[in-house]
Amino acid sequence: MGPYHPECPERLDAISDRLIAAGLDGHLHHYVAPAATREQIERVHGARYIDEVEGASPETGLHFIDPDTALNPYSLQAARHAAGAVVMAVDLAMSGECTTAFCAVRPPGHHAERSRAMGFCLFNNVAIGAAHACEVHGLERVAIVDFDVHHGNGTEEIFTGDPRVLMVSTFQHPLYPYCGLDNPSPLMVNIPLSPGSGGAEFRAAVTGRWLPAMEKYRPQLILISAGFDAHREDPLANLKLTEADYAWVTREVLAVARKHAQGRVVSSLEGGYGLSALGRSVAEHVRELVSA
Ligand SMILES: [Zn+2]
Repeated sequence: MGPYHPECPERLDAISDRLIAAGLDGHLHHYVAPAATREQIERVHGARYIDEVEGASPETGLHFIDPDTALNPYSLQAARHAAGAVVMAVDLAMSGECTTAFCAVRPPGHHAERSRAMGFCLFNNVAIGAAHACEVHGLERVAIVDFDVHHGNGTEEIFTGDPRVLMVSTFQHPLYPYCGLDNPSPLMVNIPLSPGSGGAEFRAAVTGRWLPAMEKYRPQLILISAGFDAHREDPLANLKLTEADYAWVTREVLAVARKHAQGRVVSSLEGGYGLSALGRSVAEHVRELVSA
């Protein structure tokens, strides 16, 4: 995304360093993500939009799609592989090879709408994974859990009105992208949290709103838009979650998955910009996924 941009390559280094330091790396199976195919991406993005993103890919330097979101010569390739990671993880979960998976990918995806890149996102990785689960594996009910501090407007836009997808989310409000309060769909359970909210408010939202909605929906697969920028140390927002809150919500999601989805949970990295907090939070999230 360019120099001094918070969505930086060091984020993935911070995660892998911390997984090693926490003693978790030896318990993981690592997979190399293939690029998503055009057909897989077209399940959620329009052909003209994909052409535009491909056409915007520069041979040198940076091309800004919006003030926050740029492509360098390698970004398009990274975006295809980020989406392909979630598709592959869905296949692994559905085949039973891995019940749970974490996709350590960049760029993130949940702000990308059907025909619009924004907020560091080019392709909506989790949405592409959910559509793959429905189209290829024939699932009728997929839940997307989004605990990134920013509202997942892209995922909401893509799946509003689609009975195959339940979205449950929490996000700081007001904060970029300044929406998510007014969706009337019963399958879009968006819970805004005031700046300064911490674990108590977050857990109350999950227990009071998310879990009943998921129990009622009985998802056959759960995808997580796993952003860690609601952490108290994150520089881009003002919520006060801790590693313990991420471990807790992961356990709660896993419990729903065990009951309804044969334990299948595919989590994909979204935000999280304080490098130390990101690494520590992902480690606790992955610790729960591994021990599931
Ligand atoms: Zn975010």
